[in-house]
Amino acid sequence: MDIPLKSYESAIIDKVAKAASVLSTETYLVGGFVRDKLLNRETDDADFVCVGDAMALATETARQFSPVPKISYFKRFGTAHFKVLLQERNDDGKSEKKYFELEFASARKESYRTDSRKPDVEPGTLTDDQNRRDFTINALAISLNLSDYGKLIDPFQGLKDLHQKIIRTPLEPARTFSDDPLRMLRAIRFAAQLEFRIDENTWKGIQDSAHRIKIVSQERITDEINKILLCPKPSIGFDLLFRSGLLKIIFPALHDLAGAEYKDGQRHKDNFYHTLQVVDNVAKRSDNLWLRWAALLHDIGKPATKKFEEGHGWTFHGHEVVGGKLVPKIFSRFRLPSAEPMRYVKKLVELHLRPISLTKENITDSAIRRLLFDAGDDLDDLMILCEADITSKNKQKVKRYLENFQIVRQRCREVEEKDHIRNWQPPVSGEVIMETFGLPPSKPVGVIKDAIKNAILDGLIPNTYEAAFQLMLEKGNELGLKPKNISS
Ligand code: ATP
Ligand code: MG
Repeated sequence: MDIPLKSYESAIIDKVAKAASVLSTETYLVGGFVRDKLLNRETDDADFVCVGDAMALATETARQFSPVPKISYFKRFGTAHFKVLLQERNDDGKSEKKYFELEFASARKESYRTDSRKPDVEPGTLTDDQNRRDFTINALAISLNLSDYGKLIDPFQGLKDLHQKIIRTPLEPARTFSDDPLRMLRAIRFAAQLEFRIDENTWKGIQDSAHRIKIVSQERITDEINKILLCPKPSIGFDLLFRSGLLKIIFPALHDLAGAEYKDGQRHKDNFYHTLQVVDNVAKRSDNLWLRWAALLHDIGKPATKKFEEGHGWTFHGHEVVGGKLVPKIFSRFRLPSAEPMRYVKKLVELHLRPISLTKENITDSAIRRLLFDAGDDLDDLMILCEADITSKNKQKVKRYLENFQIVRQRCREVEEKDHIRNWQPPVSGEVIMETFGLPPSKPVGVIKDAIKNAILDGLIPNTYEAAFQLMLEKGNELGLKPKNISS
């Protein structure tokens, strides 16, 4: 076999070939595994296609592993998959669990009806199966049959495209994209992931079929967006989405950032391309998908807040607040988790201007304490976002801004060491306030709680239970509240 295999990969493939021989089923290694191996990329799964019963092939293969892995069968699609445990030791001598997934499918002919995402599937030959694949580089197959074991079957010159770094559909692009419009996003994702270029004819096909992306489920679209965001240089993918016409349909809020208006000799920057640069800058420093989402959305409130002020130029006042409010809506549209990652992204969008405001002279400890309190454990990520947000072409300016952020970081370290604010909670909780005044959860509880928090952050009272309790009583008194029991 002319591909560089790790020893466990060879062992797994041998087992599949053996099962195929026992069952006399024509079997091939196909798709992403062949592509990635030829590109020397890491893979943790492999697809096998057979002209015959894929479920039987999966069962026969699984029998050779010990313990026998549990197989998931998808009868309707005639596919099956299971994963095998690879024991790997890392450098510290600690063992970590790593799995390899095997997918089995019966070769099929496939055509999607124009009005639906549901494929019409019927059994087919290897050639039929290669025809229904999305790109020439994904249609490569390697024989696991005795007669020509290891032979590369490459009907569309996929190997040549792999060497020339080209994404091209095996059939007419219109046909491939009409059968499953998600393939347009996959083309762009592969272009970004592999840093390949999209063949001209295929690119035209994407532009012509872009409107058909509407029939694809949001989950599949979101999956591709996340994969683009996780690329080493996500801007490649988002730029292609923009230029193809797809972005306008799948992510209008991001699309609306594009363009640079001109008035009275003043032009504002193109916030779309600025955003892409910020995402790339973050990608250089962090693999955290949600920090990359925060970069993508940090200026999302700009179109709604854009104003031209006479004598002042273009302004986007409050765009961080408006942007923060858009985050839950965007997360819901993209069916992204609404709890923790959403809270984190919203917070970073809301706070992304705060460290800049702290680069001025004479910043008080109290302003630093507020940042520490508001950002909490996400302060380091916020600083990465802020530094990534510097996209000026003027090297002197960039240097000066970065130095200013170093000063903010230093101040944060000093104040944190002294006051321990990052994981701090005010010493008197909402529960204590409610209990003291016999209140249900209500507005006055929040008012008193905030007053205590602000007084401590501003250094007006010490950070102690006694001082906070005393202030609570005073504030309650101002609000006309009477304590039920002040013995505590
Ligand atoms: P990745 O695993 O990084 O998403 P991949 O190419 O391996 O990339 P899979 O979804 O694992 O993608 O699919 C395996 C193979 O199945 C692909 O290489 C391709 O041949 C085929 N394939 C997957 N999705 C489609 C699709 N929407 N249309 C046509 N062929 C597809
Ligand atoms: Mg894959």
